[in-house]
Amino acid sequence: MDNCIFCKILANQLPSSRLYQDDLCTAFLDIRPVNPGHLLVIPNKHAASLAELDPDTGAQIFRVGQRMARALRGGSLQCEGVNLFVADGAAAGQEVFHVHLHVFPRFAGDAFRVTLGASLKNSPTKAELDSIAEGLRSRL
Ligand code: AMP
Ligand code: ZN
Repeated sequence: MDNCIFCKILANQLPSSRLYQDDLCTAFLDIRPVNPGHLLVIPNKHAASLAELDPDTGAQIFRVGQRMARALRGGSLQCEGVNLFVADGAAAGQEVFHVHLHVFPRFAGDAFRVTLGASLKNSPTKAELDSIAEGLRSRL
């Protein structure tokens, strides 16, 4: 994709601090890290969204994410926990439209926050949950 910054990183037209590459995916450091060690795992073949991503590549991206998490936990960077995160769609916070799995270390007192706001107060009934589950099952 001509105007995709992650495709340009893959093509070495933009710099990156690369960590790993295989036939399906590549991992490199995020330039605006939540915490030191924040990295991204991306498919080598452009896919703007999860819907466009080949499922085997998605599985490999998660596998590499697990491996990266293990490296973060065992290394010298501050890492008491790890978050894996994918933003799929602008409403979910996606800013770069080439699928990427964020992998970042967490530790007590760090600045990262997920704000659930009003949704924390939601407590749907079992019937409401069952109705949603039925609707989703019918789409699988
Ligand atoms: P998202 O909001 O999930 O689409 O995240 C996009 C991520 O890409 C952000 O965390 C950015 O810091 C990161 N990012 C943007 N440009 C670059 C780049 N040239 N190299 C590495 N990471 C980048
Ligand atoms: Zn791309």
